Amino acid sequence: MTSKAMLTRPHHIDLDFDHTHIWHPYTSVTNPVPVYPVCRAYGVFIELEDGRVLIDGMSSWWATIHGYNHPVLNKAIVSQLQQMSHIMFGGLTHEPAVTLAKQLVSLTPEPLQKVFFSDSGSVAVEVAIKMAIQYWAALGKTEKNRMLTVRSGYHGDTFAAMSVSDPVTGMHTLFNGTIQTQLFAEAPSCRFHEPCIAEDLADIRLLLERHHMETAAVIIEPVVQGAGGMRFYSPHYLVHLRELCKCYDVLLIFDEIATGFGRTGKMFALEHAGIVPDIMCVGKALTGGYMTLAATLATDNVADAICSGNPGLFMHGPTFMANPLACAVATASISLLESFDWQSSVLRLEKGLQKGLEPCKALDNVKDVRVLGAIGVVELKSPVDMVAVQKKLVDKGVWVRPFGCLVYLMPPFIMLDEELRLLTAAVCDVVTMML
Ligand SMILES: *Cc1c(COP(=O)(O)O)cnc(C)c1O
Repeated sequence: MTSKAMLTRPHHIDLDFDHTHIWHPYTSVTNPVPVYPVCRAYGVFIELEDGRVLIDGMSSWWATIHGYNHPVLNKAIVSQLQQMSHIMFGGLTHEPAVTLAKQLVSLTPEPLQKVFFSDSGSVAVEVAIKMAIQYWAALGKTEKNRMLTVRSGYHGDTFAAMSVSDPVTGMHTLFNGTIQTQLFAEAPSCRFHEPCIAEDLADIRLLLERHHMETAAVIIEPVVQGAGGMRFYSPHYLVHLRELCKCYDVLLIFDEIATGFGRTGKMFALEHAGIVPDIMCVGKALTGGYMTLAATLATDNVADAICSGNPGLFMHGPTFMANPLACAVATASISLLESFDWQSSVLRLEKGLQKGLEPCKALDNVKDVRVLGAIGVVELKSPVDMVAVQKKLVDKGVWVRPFGCLVYLMPPFIMLDEELRLLTAAVCDVVTMML
């Protein structure tokens, strides 16, 4: 009966039920904000139930790099579905997981040899932090169990991930007492194209000097700080940080969940700096935005130490670990990326974003306009009224989701110049309307 009702009204979305019963990210269920019912998505387009078609400027939060409903990715997931959609990973293994792990090991720097699959970015960060703590415990240094990071970071919404996200924007006050207190250095202040001077690292150096005995690892988003402020900083910072971590005997964790798979113009942002962390997290675009999947990679050094200590095992194992559908589509997404000159696409988007957002620079309410790879940011002087601005953007035919003082774009790599022009023009118009 239900299926018949669904067939006759294929696109009806019960918004009243949604408003009264469903939590959307960071929302109230008693005072809900509008959500736009979407019935399908294809290429760079999102089609709303009322028939309006929006150009997607968000890639569903960094993820859908190839656009929606891609025939190659659809095919990968359908053929895997006919083999098995899921199987436990305890005591069993399968081709999609092995193939994907091979790809990840070969794409990332040589020392990163071990792969742990999990379901989401936040969990991949939890896993990375656990690895760092188990590493030192295995070496008999249980006192090295704190994390050091920089301000303006974002690493996810679970507790350990939250503890290393920016303490001001990252809910620390709310969960005060239940969240680990970590060490925070000033956010890197040297901009992407600038060199880094000793002064830029003075704060983190000082913290390492004082606290290295209790610090397991430094965790940082390389080059681009995402949801914590959409800041781009100099790769030189990372070169120095690598040295400092070595010098103070602290592990280095890179969170490439937002930056991975080409977004910054390199396959991984760490390539801008040419250095290798001890542990690295990937997620988001890993499956081309099709399924939720993440991975934490570790060097042999880290893995060997963990497995030599007590209990000699890495203590984690999610139910849906290495889900075959997710692994199969991730492999297809990575192969698809490698099958074309994506570097040129990202460079083309970089130029288009620079040109398209340029008019915002002159506006009185704009503090900064910055572009790196396929990421474009308009930083305003004061926070935007998200609900009102969202509506204006939708009315202009684009899907962009501002937060705080930031209106930002990270389009799918397949976006055409003309679509990007429309997208950036809509953003400029709306920012002008806010004057
Ligand atoms: C989104 C994000 C996360 C969290 O990933 P989820 O899949 O949302 O749990 C962690 N780190 C960074 C850098 C992110 O951008």
